[in-house]
Amino acid sequence: MDPKIAKADEKIQKIISEKRRKSVEDKRVGSEIFDKQTLETLYKLANQGYMDVLNGAISTGKEANVLKGLKYKNGKEKFIAVKIYRIATSDFKKMQYYIQGDPRFNIKSNNKRQLINNWVNKEFRNLTRGFDAEVSVPKPIVALNNVLLLEFIGDDEGNPAQTVRNQKPEDVDDFLDKLLFETKKFIHDANLIHGDLSTFNILNKDENPVIIDVSQSVVRDHPIANELLVRDIKNIFNEFKKLGASTSIKEIKEKLDLGNDLDID
Ligand code: ADP
Ligand code: MN
Repeated sequence: MDPKIAKADEKIQKIISEKRRKSVEDKRVGSEIFDKQTLETLYKLANQGYMDVLNGAISTGKEANVLKGLKYKNGKEKFIAVKIYRIATSDFKKMQYYIQGDPRFNIKSNNKRQLINNWVNKEFRNLTRGFDAEVSVPKPIVALNNVLLLEFIGDDEGNPAQTVRNQKPEDVDDFLDKLLFETKKFIHDANLIHGDLSTFNILNKDENPVIIDVSQSVVRDHPIANELLVRDIKNIFNEFKKLGASTSIKEIKEKLDLGNDLDID
């Protein structure tokens, strides 16, 4: 684990385990990674019973840290994924670009924190749509400010599932088939375009795909939806081709049930 995160994590662990003695002093505990508001948000989620301990980092991305959380339930440990957007390094230009034009978000302010909160809320809502449409996505739990709690994808020991990028499917064609089936539901049933579909954002859970990272996903009538869809299809084609799949753009389009109204060269 990144020593910086380990340190921050240690602090948060302590804070959360001492949640009953929550005091003004607690709130002053700083962190190199997490600002005061993030720590307060984590307190709140702990106090509301969503989690009991933060237990190590899963990933340190450009904009977000994903940590493993623990919730004790009937004497048993349950893992959850805790995705924390960092205020300092978030790409506000990108967020604005995707949020503008989405009829679900009527953003009037230019406030960065507000924008991040909307962004996290958008990821939560997109996940919910996917989950309700029975797409293979992690089950969303709750979103608060810049923190999103979601189902942990991994084994019972708490080892997270790897991305397809890191763990090549045993049967690439079969895996791609399953992925396209899930993506078809995402498009037609959840009515969403992923927008960043790649082997980085697909987990290999016991040879079954789980689609993650849906913060930038847009509704199908969003002005940039088609552009994103074309890019997603090209990405998947290129990446799976490299992994050895025998497929074509035409076949992918067919399996996604997209008809002929989408032009891809
Ligand atoms: P970003 O790419 O913006 O940093 P992601 O949502 O793609 O954020 O998550 C980053 C990494 O964290 C993923 O590649 C994956 O390894 C891990 N991860 C994300 N969500 C989960 C989850 N629900 N269960 C297990 N691991 C996860
Ligand atoms: Mn990602």
